Amino acid sequence: MGSDHDVSRRRFLSTAVTSTAASLLARPALSFAFGEPALGLGKAVSFETEVAAGSISPWQDQGVLNLANSPYAKLHTVPVRAVTIEEGFWSKRRKTNIESSIPSMRVELEDHGRMDNFRRLVGKSSAPQKGPYYSDSDIYKWTEAVGWALQSGDRPELRSVTDSMIREVVAIQEPNGYLNTYYQNDRVPLRMQPHEQEVGHEMYCLGHMLQGAIAYYRATGDPTLMNAGMKFLDNFVIPNYGPGANQKPIISGHPEIEMSLIELYRTTGKHQYVDLAGYILHGDERATLQPRAIVYMFCGIPFTTRTKLEGHAVRAMYACCGATDYYLETGDPAYWKTLNVLWEDLSKRQMYITGGVGARAQGEAFGEPYELPNAQAYGESCAAIGNMMWNWRMLAASGEARFTDVIERALYNGINSGMSLDGTTYCYRNPLAFDPAGYDQFRGPNIRNPWYDTTCCPPNLERTFGSLPGYFYSTSKDGMYVHLYDNSVLDWHLEDGTPLKIQQKTNYPWGGDVKLTLNPAQAKDFTFYVRIPGWSANARVAVNGRTVEGAQAGQYLPIQRHWKPGDVVTLSFPITTQLVAANPRVSEDTARVAVSRGPMIYCMEGLDQENGTALSDVLIRISAQEGKEFQNEYDAKLLEGVVVVHHNGAAHETSSADEGLYTPVSSTPQKSRPAKLTMIPYYAWANRQPTTMQVWSRYIRS
Ligand SMILES: [Zn+2]
Repeated sequence: MGSDHDVSRRRFLSTAVTSTAASLLARPALSFAFGEPALGLGKAVSFETEVAAGSISPWQDQGVLNLANSPYAKLHTVPVRAVTIEEGFWSKRRKTNIESSIPSMRVELEDHGRMDNFRRLVGKSSAPQKGPYYSDSDIYKWTEAVGWALQSGDRPELRSVTDSMIREVVAIQEPNGYLNTYYQNDRVPLRMQPHEQEVGHEMYCLGHMLQGAIAYYRATGDPTLMNAGMKFLDNFVIPNYGPGANQKPIISGHPEIEMSLIELYRTTGKHQYVDLAGYILHGDERATLQPRAIVYMFCGIPFTTRTKLEGHAVRAMYACCGATDYYLETGDPAYWKTLNVLWEDLSKRQMYITGGVGARAQGEAFGEPYELPNAQAYGESCAAIGNMMWNWRMLAASGEARFTDVIERALYNGINSGMSLDGTTYCYRNPLAFDPAGYDQFRGPNIRNPWYDTTCCPPNLERTFGSLPGYFYSTSKDGMYVHLYDNSVLDWHLEDGTPLKIQQKTNYPWGGDVKLTLNPAQAKDFTFYVRIPGWSANARVAVNGRTVEGAQAGQYLPIQRHWKPGDVVTLSFPITTQLVAANPRVSEDTARVAVSRGPMIYCMEGLDQENGTALSDVLIRISAQEGKEFQNEYDAKLLEGVVVVHHNGAAHETSSADEGLYTPVSSTPQKSRPAKLTMIPYYAWANRQPTTMQVWSRYIRS
């Protein structure tokens, strides 16, 4: 691992030459200034890292990831600010995020002492330390949410508040670079001790600090928090910890630092951060961990020896993110092989239909293959977000739409369910069946809460929705990819520098028609890759009204032509109500079906069913005229506007509550009666009074 800056820089420059980002190579030499935080916000000039022409794009051009110079990225990000999401499905969520969630979470963070933890250390608060040892990460994740949100439009008040918080954070940094509010006073000797590295989240907090710092830097150009993170690394971590004989081992503990180190390299050009990430992903043989810890923490052995997803789901997903980032920079084939093995495990055996992952509450962990319980599902919001983040990296490495399908599945369902419609309460768990009676003897029947003492999920959701515009498009050396559909305007350019605007008009996801108007600055040959969702059979694609053949579900359709300003691409994805069965090995879903509509997974809530029919008694009717038993209706007043699915289904004639626990099986079918069933999109559940919910229902054929 290199701490030799000259060698690292040479290696960095050699990778930069291979970059395909021609537009960036054409830019003049850049000089990046990363200064001491004490100099104040936005005035950091105390030392400079000279960066050669084209090796790094300006901060305002960097996307959710900065892949402009990543040699093994087939796709490159566009900045969040380049995509404006207009009135449509995501605009409501994004408005709520910036106007309600982010401000109310700041109040929660203050009320629960997260900033006083910093103030106390410089004599500005007498409040005791509050929260678990990873509480600093709450502040950093919130800062990241602000960083992404500000890229869709400045908000001086929010920026001012965040600037103040950043000042208070960096004020506690010690001269040796250390910065963590938990390991203070009598805990100072515990810093980075082997046991603390396993459980204490010091590297995790630093990782979130770096991610928050980078997002804020990309919004404002202000490197204050990033400088503090680099000082922590350069002065404290790298001189003392690593593979060298004079260094002590690093145990990731809760993976997170890996991906943040690589993003820091992408932002600063300092290759030692990639080397450090690679060392951590490999694990250090000097740090012997119990087998149980290696499983639970998803670190401590070479990442490339992993053969399945296991242990703590968020840890595993974040490790996969870091490993994919490492592949994107190094092209190490062993990593790519392992990542694909793990992805097969994810998509074939470990993922909920909602895109949620991590079945077990015990250890917040993956279960055995096909262990996907419904009511007992853990499905932490953070794990679904980790799933999306990982697939975003796999997509960048490959350009393959199977990864985008997972992003869409998680985004619309298992992530979107995590935040209430009003944006002030959050699900930590996202089960697929629910009964508020006795749900949690300590918390009561509310699965959504404004605050958790481990409040990882709320700011994680906020940073995801803040960064959402950055997931709509990518560039490649031969053109442009469109991944997600909603009313929006892209204002960016091809990689040869040709300005390109794309306007999307659609009612997606309620309807499947999308009109894309392309406006290159001048007529140009390039390929426009349009995503055909995996759920979309019989998709139709046309350019200026003429059909383009070859659309395949779960693929990008490349349309190569001489594009002229005003060319129109129309996509038609017939959206129908579909019944979905699970693999027979998923025992909880045996003899049950789920209902989907486009990218949306539907559920039933007890309060919507007529005559109070219990969800345990309802039956989906599968008829020969498939689909005819379902009627769809957009209800603007319900749940802030959803397409409701009505179904002429059935219910058992005798309520299950009146039956014995075990009953002899009769040769005649159990009697049922017609019942009108009502379904809503899963993401919108638990937004009214507490009631039962289920995604997977029993069925009859008729
Ligand atoms: Zn969480």
